[in-house]
Amino acid sequence: MSVALGKMVGMEDLETQLGELEQLARRVASEVLGEGASRPLDERALVAVLAATGRVQRLVEAVQIELVGEIDQRNTSPVGEGRLVDRLGCHNVSELVQRATRVSPATAGRLARAATAIRQPVSVTTGEVLPPMLPALREAVRDGVVGLDGALAIAGPLMATGSRAARDALLTADGILAAEARGEGPDAAPPACADLLRVQAQVWAMALDPDGAEPRERRAMHARAFTLGTATEYGVPVRGMLLHEVAAQFQRIADAVMNPRVDSDRVSGVRFVDDSADAPHVPADPRTRAQKQHDVLATALGVAASSELLPTIGGAAPTLVVTVREEDLLGGRGYAHLDGCSEPVAVTAATHAGCAGVVQRVALDARGRIRSLGTEERVFNRHQRRAIAARDGGCLIPGCGVPAAWCEIHHVVEHANGGPTHTDNGVLLCWFHHRFIDHGGWKIRMNLGVPELRAPNWIDPYGRWRPATISPTRLLHGVLRT
Ligand SMILES: [Zn+2]
Repeated sequence: MSVALGKMVGMEDLETQLGELEQLARRVASEVLGEGASRPLDERALVAVLAATGRVQRLVEAVQIELVGEIDQRNTSPVGEGRLVDRLGCHNVSELVQRATRVSPATAGRLARAATAIRQPVSVTTGEVLPPMLPALREAVRDGVVGLDGALAIAGPLMATGSRAARDALLTADGILAAEARGEGPDAAPPACADLLRVQAQVWAMALDPDGAEPRERRAMHARAFTLGTATEYGVPVRGMLLHEVAAQFQRIADAVMNPRVDSDRVSGVRFVDDSADAPHVPADPRTRAQKQHDVLATALGVAASSELLPTIGGAAPTLVVTVREEDLLGGRGYAHLDGCSEPVAVTAATHAGCAGVVQRVALDARGRIRSLGTEERVFNRHQRRAIAARDGGCLIPGCGVPAAWCEIHHVVEHANGGPTHTDNGVLLCWFHHRFIDHGGWKIRMNLGVPELRAPNWIDPYGRWRPATISPTRLLHGVLRT
């Protein structure tokens, strides 16, 4: 019965069938996006409709995977004259798939990888249809149980074992993973999503191929990369591939710098000294995770550069030279230029940079004469740093929580404006608050050697100046006084 049905459907023109499907899909898209048909749906219906789109998508992807496999097969074992892609004016299968379906190169590659795992190759010599690498996965794809994501989640780790896994064992893993995908696994869990399938497939791959870590290690060493792209107006794009342990190290540093709060009510780090009822509530950090990670990298680079542990260039620590016009430096607006960077940076970047010991700032007057050099005298020494750290305890901005060891020292009155490099003029700020102190609305002043803060208007509409610290001695003092 099913064979007869299969033949009957197979004989129908695929293009006509997909044309009908397209008409139907077009109608649905027009109703949902054009007429807002999803707006009156209740929650249950909304999710049901979404789930239905998932089922249709997986089936469409199943057909796509098979078609890409067919194209790939015809391309590698050409019948008649030349390669298929040459006749169609494309460089390779990927380009053909991109042009036909308008997907990205990444998706075209994913379709091709899924096809390799589940297609039924045809023997070049006998014309016989051979079994696929992962037959149970092929059935799951055919039935719309898994789509492209799910197929790759299973196929990726299993196929990576290559010829090192025994065929029988691979088929067992294929069968069990496909059952998990259908929700028919031994633990009777609901159908697994792509992410869970990948985790399970990785466990299987490790069991099938215990020596797999070694070639994987070699591939990882080969693939590791970190490159800076061409500078743009907004910054320099980066791309690359970090080894797991390098990424983990970065994550550890990020955790340490960001000092995540134990519970959201109790803000760790620096607090206002008069932590009474009328002290303003400082809201959570507005930065995105990606922005925070950028700032962690900046912090770590600054710490490394000033650690005196880096190799020297020409007998001196690696020093970044920042050039700025003197009047821009004094006026706090305009541009500065970094040695080795084609794009100008804001003058605030030069101001910030000038506070660190490993950056040399050169200020030029209107004619181009060197007016001032950022020199040792404007860098706080170790003893001053230790004293300031004891007084402030961490980044001075309440709620920030970056510990003292990771902070920079900010000249409250800019050195260029006559501010001395003295403990009475230096406060601890994290890289982020130091760099963007002019943007955040926080104001800092020294009152007889004690730093005081004024919160931005939207946090404290009264705009009161308050001392802030992490030092328990000074906090206690504040409590006793009130
Ligand atoms: Zn901070």
